[in-house]
Amino acid sequence: MSGTGGRSVAGDPVVGDLGRYDVIVVGAGVAGLCVAIEAAGAGRRVLVVEKTERLGGMLHIAGGEFSGAGTRRQAAHGIDDDPERHWDEVMRLSHGRADPDLTWRTVRAQGETVDWLDGLGFDFHPDSPGLIHGHEVYSVPRTYWGVDQGDSLLRVLERELARWAPEQVRVLTGTRVTGTVLDDDDRIAGITGITAHGPGSGETAEIVAHAPAVVLATGGYDAEPGLRNRFLPPGCEDAMIACLDHATGDGLRLAEALGAAVSNNGIFLPVMGLIPDPGRPGFAVDYREAFIELPPAYRTPHEIWVNRAGERFVPEDGTSPERRERALLEQPGLAMHIVWDQAIARAAEPLIRNGAGDWTRERFLEEQESGRWIVTAPTPEELAVRLGVDPAGLAATLRRYNEAVRAGHDPDQGRTTLPMTIDSPPYYGITSTASSLLSRDGLQVTGDLAVLRRDGRPIPGLYAVGEVLGNDVFAGDNYVGGMSVTPAMTLGRALGGALGRALAADAS
Ligand SMILES: Cc1cc2nc3c(=O)[nH]c(=O)nc-3n(C[C@H](O)[C@H](O)[C@H](O)COP(=O)(O)OP(=O)(O)OC[C@H]3O[C@@H](n4cnc5c(N)ncnc54)[C@H](O)[C@@H]3O)c2cc1C
Repeated sequence: MSGTGGRSVAGDPVVGDLGRYDVIVVGAGVAGLCVAIEAAGAGRRVLVVEKTERLGGMLHIAGGEFSGAGTRRQAAHGIDDDPERHWDEVMRLSHGRADPDLTWRTVRAQGETVDWLDGLGFDFHPDSPGLIHGHEVYSVPRTYWGVDQGDSLLRVLERELARWAPEQVRVLTGTRVTGTVLDDDDRIAGITGITAHGPGSGETAEIVAHAPAVVLATGGYDAEPGLRNRFLPPGCEDAMIACLDHATGDGLRLAEALGAAVSNNGIFLPVMGLIPDPGRPGFAVDYREAFIELPPAYRTPHEIWVNRAGERFVPEDGTSPERRERALLEQPGLAMHIVWDQAIARAAEPLIRNGAGDWTRERFLEEQESGRWIVTAPTPEELAVRLGVDPAGLAATLRRYNEAVRAGHDPDQGRTTLPMTIDSPPYYGITSTASSLLSRDGLQVTGDLAVLRRDGRPIPGLYAVGEVLGNDVFAGDNYVGGMSVTPAMTLGRALGGALGRALAADAS
């Protein structure tokens, strides 16, 4: 290998020496971009290596909701809030299972992150800060989002990064980091990788780059079923994958090759409302295209939800996302089937939506007839057969539900929103399966985000931030609003700044 006289842990032989930097950031999602921006701002030379051909990682699909307390926008809306209250709520919602120290380190500065984005001209949605009902609701509005979901965040971060390129930040896309370089004292000294942009057109080439600090900001592992199932509790392997394909756990594998400690908390809570993709078994239809709107705060539920036995398993108008998520976990195949009829199709708001808001009633009715995701039948029994549900079970459930609507009382599930009976053919149904879209487990780190070995000692020069840490750190066994994107940004900024200052001190 060339350059430092160090040894490469994986990826030999290496050609193409990219030279020496102060910090190498592996992965250009929201976490990596924030590390790079702050390290460059502190005067350091930064190399960002990204395996896909574009920056942004999961921001391309994410809702991009973020949270922070004590912000200028909250003050402008007369909302009284502070980081201590935010931390208390994260600990309550995570049932005390979020990491108290790392959670405090991020939450105490998340308000500043929100104000920083504000200063950069972030296009806040006019309804934010607001209360968000897709996860358990905070007690005060402290969640923010942009007019274009995750793309709104990406726009400001790309603009900010561009201020430092090319002098201080070099960005290499289409380049997968495959190994690390260690010096003779077993300190991190750089990375090895493979670039799609080799010397000839379309040729791949091996690369090496050198730096005393390498930051793993490679995101999660949910798109790699083998790795994901290593962490999922038994029986949850049927969960659909609902994230982008780059989430293959590369950072975990790179660090594990160096003896890094990885959590394995056995936690899984599904995301609900995603539609199985008929063209890609095991994967969900892209969230940007379509999802089923479940929270009653956003749409009055007219349908019933049944399991494979044709039985209802939760009140469909319940306001607790966690309650319905835990109920779905108990159902065979982690599957639920949503059932309605012609009268509901005409009267209710469209069941399917997306973030762009372009699911009109006409589009929904066309989708309903297309047979792509939604099945239709003249009787409940035939609908059940097409959905893979017990026919007698579904027919009996519909009879009981219709009696409940007429009586204005649901003795089975205690649902109080009972707008219409379901008895006007044809009948319609759509299947939704529990989904995984972010990684719950990940690399164990110190408060300063140095990656820990299994023996509890840090690996000198190796850091990690973002989803590669696993979301349990900030959400425990639940989902907590904004507590993936915001820690990625906030701790990413803190790490970039700290590395920048530390390396400046070393140089002087
Ligand atoms: C549909 C959906 C909606 C979501 N909505 C929200 C939300 O509203 N709020 C919230 O807080 N969270 C949300 N999340 C989760 C959140 O988007 C992610 O946790 C967060 O964006 C992860 O950021 P990251 O930078 O850590 O990783 P990523 O965004 O995944 O970026 C990692 C980057 O590293 C690159 N990479 C990986 N391996 C290598 C390698 N070997 N070499 C070089 N590059 C590599 C990848 O290509 C990628 O660009 C959502 C997720 C999904 C899927």
